[in-house]
Amino acid sequence: MDSLQLQNIRKSFGSMDVLKGVELDVTRGEFVVFVGPSGCGKSTLLRIIAGLDDQTSGDVRIDGKLMNGVPPAKRGIAMVFQSYALYPHLTVAKNMALALTQEGVAKAEIDTRVATAAAMLRLEALLDRRPSELSGGQRQRVAIGRAIVRQPSLFLFDEPLSNLDAALRGGTRVEIAKLHRQLGATMVYVTHDQIEAMTLADKIVVMNGGVVEQVGRPLELYNRPATKFVAGFIGSPA
Ligand code: ADP
Ligand code: MG
Repeated sequence: MDSLQLQNIRKSFGSMDVLKGVELDVTRGEFVVFVGPSGCGKSTLLRIIAGLDDQTSGDVRIDGKLMNGVPPAKRGIAMVFQSYALYPHLTVAKNMALALTQEGVAKAEIDTRVATAAAMLRLEALLDRRPSELSGGQRQRVAIGRAIVRQPSLFLFDEPLSNLDAALRGGTRVEIAKLHRQLGATMVYVTHDQIEAMTLADKIVVMNGGVVEQVGRPLELYNRPATKFVAGFIGSPA
């Protein structure tokens, strides 16, 4: 069964057609990276998958179940944004635990999950700090930890590294790749950074103007771009 299925997803804002019939099948455990120029509809698509926005038409299925109209909290997903959106008055541990507390998960279970996520992300020593006492990279690791503790089957990342400086970006990228191997979860990741796409993806989806231009393994796209646009974007000399 596919982890995520998008069928003919369309989205219009007023008279502007932003998504024009996006189709995609994502296998369980796959790391899929969406790339494409600014404004091509990547974030809109992620928000629709997450249930934060409704498609104008088309179907979203997660683990085979039709998600149209299902609220975000009931989709079995967790999303990591470019801005960390941590609560400044809460400690790292409380920030990570908050969603679970709200869902009524037992305290002992919450503590175990937070400790496990903190170990994965090397945050153990920082659990009692507040966000203002952390570096940008540490804050983004907390935001990722907050997603992990929910044990979603599907992670959605929207340009999670774009606010980090180059040095931190490389390290955090490696961290995300490691997490993917450890968790075996499906990851859908948006970036405009070709290096992130080439190194993280099992499968790259190149979007342009609200449609999927090409889908393939990184080297397939690099060696056999289907259009001039893909060739230019992935940087193949062909
Ligand atoms: P990307 O993430 O690929 O840069 P977005 O999905 O954010 O692109 O945006 C795609 C297009 O949709 C842009 O032209 C953007 O201005 C427009 N858009 C996004 N959200 C809204 C909204 N809530 N209302 C109106 N237009 C929007
Ligand atoms: Mg975006």
